[in-house]
Amino acid sequence: MNATGYFTHNDCRMHEMGPGHPECPERLDAIEDRLLASGVGDALDRREAPLAALGDIELAHDRMMVAAIRGLSDHLADDIDAGGPAYAQIDPDTALNVHSWNAALRAAGAALAATDSVMAGEIENAFCAVRPPGHHACHNKAMGFCIFNSVAIAAKYALERHGLKRVAIVDFDVHHGNGTEDILSGDERVLMVSFFQHPFYPYSGTGTHAGNMVNVPVPAYTRGMEVREIIEAIWIPRLEEFKPEMIFISAGFDAHRDDELGQLGLVEQDYAWITQRIKDVAKRHAQGRIVSSLEGGYNLRALGRSVEAHIRVLADL
Ligand SMILES: [Zn+2]
Repeated sequence: MNATGYFTHNDCRMHEMGPGHPECPERLDAIEDRLLASGVGDALDRREAPLAALGDIELAHDRMMVAAIRGLSDHLADDIDAGGPAYAQIDPDTALNVHSWNAALRAAGAALAATDSVMAGEIENAFCAVRPPGHHACHNKAMGFCIFNSVAIAAKYALERHGLKRVAIVDFDVHHGNGTEDILSGDERVLMVSFFQHPFYPYSGTGTHAGNMVNVPVPAYTRGMEVREIIEAIWIPRLEEFKPEMIFISAGFDAHRDDELGQLGLVEQDYAWITQRIKDVAKRHAQGRIVSSLEGGYNLRALGRSVEAHIRVLADL
């Protein structure tokens, strides 16, 4: 059994934040196109992402924050009926349309269903092709293109609902996963390892942080080989020592050389290499259990190629 699950839903395509926004529905099309053209998609166990239950969203988010997003979404529908704007703005970069609420629940639901399927042994690992992304979403605040923090929710779910004692989160997005840190900082059942461009949005992740957060800020124009050395020297020893029973990946591909939102120099082969190193740790300690969820990645062609490289390693193709 080494099947790889692929969780997605059309609702995730319906969420959009206005003309020209880089976090756009075409990102999912670029991934689907590449998986179709390469034949990689045929090898995957494709599943519909369910809507996450609010009780599970609230494993990581404040109940009032969830209610506030729900309220914004409900008011938006009323406002549109009255001739108002098509979007409810959360911050200058982040907005809701009438589909965003369901998209965010599907994005989290994908990670939860993937966790259930991996824990049940139906699949070895999974990739969730979802939007909105999640790793900037904090306990009590949506921000930075993110509404709910799907990976943090799924990590808490694996601990609380499946009774795991140690889960790791690997975040290779170009931006610091400040939301995940906000939610899980100090929770010794979780080890989070990340690298991120610094100084850069959201200008967090340096300075003092809890011992379960392994943050490696890197300067602009750092290339893939240097990132690999950091991973080998810093991430892998901590992961090996921690012995996670399951690994979640905040899979952002905006550290790609061609991505215009970041200034790092990774390419497809670097994503394949990183995925293989994570998979090696998962094989040794976690029965191979990995759930990977899409975060950033805004150059459509680079995104499609990078996700393909990532999934090829997950699925042994
Ligand atoms: Zn990012």
